[in-house]
Amino acid sequence: MQAFENLDDEAFRRLVRDWLAEELVQVSDRFPAPVSPHDMVFRRAWEDHLCAAGWSGLTWPRAYGGKALPIARMVIYLEEYARSGAPQGVNVIGHGILGPTLLHFGSEAQKQRFLPELLANREVWCQGYSEPGAGSDLAALRTRAVLKGDHYEVTGQKIWTSYAHIANWCFLLARTDPSAPKHKGISFLLVDMKTSGITVRPIRQMNGEQEFNEVFFDAVKVPVENRVGDENAGWAIAMAAASFERATYFIPRLVRMEEEFRDLLAVARARRPGVGVALDDPAIRERFAQSYLDVHVLKLFACRMLETMEGTPGPEGSYLKLFWSESHQRLLELAMDVLGPAARLGPQDPEAVDRRHWQRDYLWSCAETILAGTSEIQRNIIAERVVGLPR
Ligand SMILES: Cc1cc2nc3c(=O)[nH]c(=O)nc-3n(C[C@H](O)[C@H](O)[C@H](O)COP(=O)(O)OP(=O)(O)OC[C@H]3O[C@@H](n4cnc5c(N)ncnc54)[C@H](O)[C@@H]3O)c2cc1C
Repeated sequence: MQAFENLDDEAFRRLVRDWLAEELVQVSDRFPAPVSPHDMVFRRAWEDHLCAAGWSGLTWPRAYGGKALPIARMVIYLEEYARSGAPQGVNVIGHGILGPTLLHFGSEAQKQRFLPELLANREVWCQGYSEPGAGSDLAALRTRAVLKGDHYEVTGQKIWTSYAHIANWCFLLARTDPSAPKHKGISFLLVDMKTSGITVRPIRQMNGEQEFNEVFFDAVKVPVENRVGDENAGWAIAMAAASFERATYFIPRLVRMEEEFRDLLAVARARRPGVGVALDDPAIRERFAQSYLDVHVLKLFACRMLETMEGTPGPEGSYLKLFWSESHQRLLELAMDVLGPAARLGPQDPEAVDRRHWQRDYLWSCAETILAGTSEIQRNIIAERVVGLPR
């Protein structure tokens, strides 16, 4: 890959676009056609390829192997990535959350140990926060970490742990002081998934895929040097970690939603008469108009957020999360109605509507109003911190 540090924005955009187009074909050709963008092996191979070519740590400092690019360049990269149709990697939690967290809060030894492995994609990470009794109310978590000399002994259960079945490492929150107020007695630990006492149990999702897991910890030894920050200071680290990805998280999702909108319109126009709902139905036309507006409103939200992101991230991210997840669900519900019963068939069914996997995307969109804070929680944040309503 050509050095890109000295290119102007347009040249950088072209470089990213051309590189992705060429290399995606090369990596896809290694797999039997048609390769699914959701195939985990393909996703990992593609992500390894990206990292080997230097497309990781784009905004990280050079001292830690990053490219120190400004955020505007990152936005261009993410826009072109989403347009290319390239699959999402499997180490998104490592690159998006753990890396920036270590850069801000990690010790020098932790940065030297973990960042190079992450940049090269040799170690995949998962995030062990949620528990059966602690989701929206995360600070209610009960997994314990008891200090025993040079290590903690971790016991408890995590759930909905994406990628735990393929992860080499997990960053988790565990209670180190049960007598402290609930937000104050929590520590942030880095746990090697090969340690004895860890059991990973997959959870099958309704779309047939399996990305989630339950993870059980039974007296798992975690060296003290794997604690990030001070003991009992994990809550603040976890909250900051959640904000690192926020500004750029939605860029590829907005680009993809705009493309889905265009695709749906094109597929709907090409449908045989009598299949699905006709495009001249006024109610359907109104829903298309609404989705068109949704995409534009989302772009404006995202622009405002990027302009203000140099400061401390505020509750504005909740608007974007809420509006994106709910309008994306509306778009995919429209797809189901417009495309007719065949759109409900899975990608393996020969009668399914085109290879864009409408059924899969529709089912997956149900998770979007839950992950990273449910819609109810986002509304609570907006009500209390933006509108100023009483708790
Ligand atoms: C696709 C996906 C990937 C995920 N990946 C991970 C991961 O990698 N690691 C991880 O740790 N977790 C992960 N999660 C878990 C996710 O963070 C939780 O599902 C989420 O925080 C909600 O918690 P819960 O499922 O326990 O629901 P609960 O908190 O039990 O909520 C149940 C319902 O009650 C409502 N509710 C709860 N509290 C309030 C309130 N105060 N006011 C109003 N309504 C309320 C909620 O909105 C929801 O409708 C993932 C979830 C999804 C869907």
